[in-house]
Amino acid sequence: MKTEFKFKGIHCCEAVVLACIDFRFWKETMKFVEEELGIKSYDFPKLPGSAKAINECASGADVPMACIGVPCDLHHVGKIVIANHSDCGAYGGSAKFNGDDEAEQKFHESELKKAEEKIKAQYPGKEVVLVYAKLVDDGENIDFLRVD
Ligand SMILES: [Zn+2]
Repeated sequence: MKTEFKFKGIHCCEAVVLACIDFRFWKETMKFVEEELGIKSYDFPKLPGSAKAINECASGADVPMACIGVPCDLHHVGKIVIANHSDCGAYGGSAKFNGDDEAEQKFHESELKKAEEKIKAQYPGKEVVLVYAKLVDDGENIDFLRVD
């Protein structure tokens, strides 16, 4: 198969978007990033639990931090987007919260903020956008929420 390469001679992109590997969320995450955040070019690493991988890694040389570091150093991204989602298996799923959506959301928000601090310590000056993809309407829809 041959297809058009859209980035000939281009080595910079706008952002890095770190998401969970979960097959149920990543396509919709791309849609949110492109249509709602207006980001057209981005590196898109995926690790189990997203923020969890950042929070649990020991140093900048570890794979999770390299997923942020390489886009910052090589592709000169200005924005770092971290997206967590509800019912994330890496965290034990929604079951761990006994159906308490609010507790689950609060937990993910604190995970995202922890990851933001760790990333900002290493890459100051970058804009960090935190996102929580929340299952709503009895699991029929995903609501992408910005976390401040
Ligand atoms: Zn997940």
